[in-house]
Amino acid sequence: MTEKTYSARINRLRKLLKAAKLPGMLVSNHTNVTYLTGFSGDASYLLVTAKELIIISDSRFTTQLAEECPGLKCEIRSDSGGTIAVVADVIRSLKVSNLGFESQAVTMAQYEHWKSLFSSVELVAQSGLVEGLRAVKDSTEIEKIRKAIEINERAFAIIRQQLRGNQTEREVAHNLENEMRAMGATGCAFPAIVAVGDRAALPHATPGHQRIEESSFVLVDWGTRNDGYVSDLTRMIIHGKPNAKFKKIYDVVLGAQLAAIRLIKPGVDCQVVDAAARSFIAKAGFGKYFGHGLGHGIGVQVHESPYFSPTRKGVLEEGMVVTVEPGIYLPEFGGVREDDVLVTRDGFEVLSQTPKSYEESIITLI
Ligand code: ZN
Ligand code: ZN
Repeated sequence: MTEKTYSARINRLRKLLKAAKLPGMLVSNHTNVTYLTGFSGDASYLLVTAKELIIISDSRFTTQLAEECPGLKCEIRSDSGGTIAVVADVIRSLKVSNLGFESQAVTMAQYEHWKSLFSSVELVAQSGLVEGLRAVKDSTEIEKIRKAIEINERAFAIIRQQLRGNQTEREVAHNLENEMRAMGATGCAFPAIVAVGDRAALPHATPGHQRIEESSFVLVDWGTRNDGYVSDLTRMIIHGKPNAKFKKIYDVVLGAQLAAIRLIKPGVDCQVVDAAARSFIAKAGFGKYFGHGLGHGIGVQVHESPYFSPTRKGVLEEGMVVTVEPGIYLPEFGGVREDDVLVTRDGFEVLSQTPKSYEESIITLI
């Protein structure tokens, strides 16, 4: 990312503040601070007004700040006072009457403390401002996500090819994560999920000691973090002969996923996309076994705006990257498929290419 990228992001935030009639904003969610400045440390605060941009941090980060955001104005706390006391001083010097803050990033205790400390301003709760900016990716960000997906898929192809019956879930997860790093990734977007047989019915199973040969299928949900951006995919690997009901469920989930992806384009309501997959699954008789949202945005975090769910509002825009991950979870097994999809100017592009039909998911264990 260049300095130009960060100043464009700050300008977009300033426009939102102007529209909200806010003279300034205190950004304390460190993922958002990173997004707006490039500073990758934490425990720091960013103050944004129409004219000023100041990061308040502590001496651990002096060198890092100079390296990562050379042009940014910094206030470094002295060892005697807390960082937040410096924030209060800077706020006073800005002479603004009210100040937005990120209500989702602040505890009740912090809020009470801030209210007494920042007595010169009225604090105005804001929610999702920077998250809204993050939802729409520029071309550099999309390239980084493509790269994270590419590493994800190459790593998966290797462990799939080398899968042995006596491997445990934990060994496969370890190998998968190892492959991502060997390919130059920063690491995992989240701990990889490898779930054999009925454990695939647990949407967030932790890899354990079950062996691949204990069932005829295994679910893998895995993501790469590379250069600040993530990927997030799910596939089933089938070996041996699952029962006929499994194939039926597998195909219903695929049908639901394709029905939802087809609708993706700018201007479409996120709830409409969610409903398409949900009604497809319900019509097949499995409605009560799909208990989570259809998907979520990915970017600097693995779950970010927009969200596909029956309750969360949002409208798709060009440059968003979203997952589409319907699932059917029966007590004895689960079927899920997850792809990463870019919202393009007039439709969508499925960024992940790992094959996903039932037939293409069948392998022979070595
Ligand atoms: Zn996932
Ligand atoms: Zn996901």
